[in-house]
Amino acid sequence: MAGEFDLIRRHFRQATAPREDVLLGIGDDCALLAVPPGQSLAVSSDTLVSGRHFHPDTDPEALGHKALAVNLSDLAAMGAEPAWASLCLTLPEADEAWLAAFMRGFSALAERFEVQLVGGDTTRGELSISITVHGLVEPKRAMRRDAARPGDLVYVTGRLGDAGLALLARQGLYVRDGSMASLMQRLDRPEPRVAEGRQAAGFAHAAIDLSDGLGSDLGHLCEASGVGALLYLESLPISEAVRDYVAETGDWSLPLSAGDDYELVLTVPGDRQQAFEAAARHWTVPVAWVGMIEHGRGVRAIHPDGTHSEQVATGYDHFRD
Ligand code: ADP
Ligand code: MG
Repeated sequence: MAGEFDLIRRHFRQATAPREDVLLGIGDDCALLAVPPGQSLAVSSDTLVSGRHFHPDTDPEALGHKALAVNLSDLAAMGAEPAWASLCLTLPEADEAWLAAFMRGFSALAERFEVQLVGGDTTRGELSISITVHGLVEPKRAMRRDAARPGDLVYVTGRLGDAGLALLARQGLYVRDGSMASLMQRLDRPEPRVAEGRQAAGFAHAAIDLSDGLGSDLGHLCEASGVGALLYLESLPISEAVRDYVAETGDWSLPLSAGDDYELVLTVPGDRQQAFEAAARHWTVPVAWVGMIEHGRGVRAIHPDGTHSEQVATGYDHFRD
């Protein structure tokens, strides 16, 4: 069985392409990284624990992708450019095949976003994956949660609820005719909206990425900013599959409170609307105007039939513990 140092040498040392701003990478007590003048370091960590955040049998390659993707999504929501990552792995055993597959998923995504793995830790114990990503952003451009203002327009990227629908299907709680493959991709291989976040930073006041669902995550943003929000449910961007689900069940919880979408919520001031929408037309993902930031507290919604619901975040909790 491979020892710890052997694992590090074979699986991590050259896992990603070298960057010029890495003065010293894996192998020493610390990595040495060069932050360009005028930029601040954006730092974020996420931990995935087996049995809690993923099933122990999850395809390790998909897990390697997702573990990094959810971290890059946080950088995207800040408007930061990804640069470096560290990876703390707790493994029950030195399973080489598992580790190789995990690192294939991790490295493929890291290469696409020019992220270099610069360090980490490898220990034995119950399977858990903890990643810290480091990005660069001019502090003035960073999209903070506390910066939304009444009158801002609320936009979301991509489509909402696909990952939640895939999870229901995987748990055997929903059956749909036809292929679920593209929905499963949305659950297993979320695409961090990095380029979109970087561009949106030139227009948006505030942003957050969607890990827990629109109602809840927009609720966090509103709370931090001391504002409320109004959502127009008929404007929520949803796939045909989610549209069918909502039509069949009358239940809006998929687009509002299912997690794992990793899309961005952006609040854009009215006087930047046209310029923002013109820029967003060139994006590879659609962006939809879904509501307004308003005075007050909490997230309200107007349903397609004209009825209102107050407090969306807590009103739809069938995905919560
Ligand atoms: P130390 O005992 O000084 O903390 P380690 O033996 O834990 O050093 O790690 C040796 C080197 O390998 C360090 O540079 C560390 O950052 C790197 N490393 C260890 N585990 C990982 C990992 N899972 N991913 C990336 N780098 C790692
Ligand atoms: Mg160590």
